[in-house]
Amino acid sequence: MEQNKDLSQFDIPLAKRIYINNSNSILLKKLLIFSPFICLLFSIFALRLIRNIEIGSLVNINFQTQINRDHRILGHLPYEEIPKEKLVLIEPNIQVHIDMRTSLLEMRDEAKKNGIYLVFLSGYRSINLQNEIFYSLKSFRNQEAAERARVSAPPGYSEHSTGFAIDIGDATQRETDFETEFENTDAFKWLINNAAKFHFKLSFTKDNKFIDYEPWHWRYEGSIEALKVFESSNRKS
Ligand SMILES: [Zn+2]
Repeated sequence: MEQNKDLSQFDIPLAKRIYINNSNSILLKKLLIFSPFICLLFSIFALRLIRNIEIGSLVNINFQTQINRDHRILGHLPYEEIPKEKLVLIEPNIQVHIDMRTSLLEMRDEAKKNGIYLVFLSGYRSINLQNEIFYSLKSFRNQEAAERARVSAPPGYSEHSTGFAIDIGDATQRETDFETEFENTDAFKWLINNAAKFHFKLSFTKDNKFIDYEPWHWRYEGSIEALKVFESSNRKS
């Protein structure tokens, strides 16, 4: 009994309990409970953002490499000059790649049967000749290279140096030779409907951003060699 009395004299501190009652504290409590989930959500969001930025810059790099890889100048792709032994004469002053001779002449014959008279204006052109055309006409017309390139390829960048390109006119409307008006001739309309049967394709359509529309300029894609030559161009268009 004596012992109990003594114990009661000690001041034993009771554990203080603070009850969170106000609304701010309830919010804080909820935040504390959900904080791991919020952290997780933020992490996922941040990771996705970083990944998208990285993918975006990779796509940009790839796109720029693609542009640089085809080595265009003023919108024209580079073309090598055809070896002389692969050239054949189809007119007194017109040579073409031996691979396209038969198709080209068959196309002219077929057109003739339909009452359409195709005339060949220009076939193979050497890089030297292209050099003269590009620079002499440029200075004659007082045009800068970019303007000139809209209507003529810089030397080393012409489809004509491959032997697979042919400029075609309408024998009954020679005033439309090398003119956009050629598109209104019967010859052009016939070509649009029939040229693909002979593996010919219009090179510079109205969609081209850098080079003016050339309804007279067609290229041959009927052999593996020709397809390889124009592979870059076809990949882009
Ligand atoms: Zn041409």
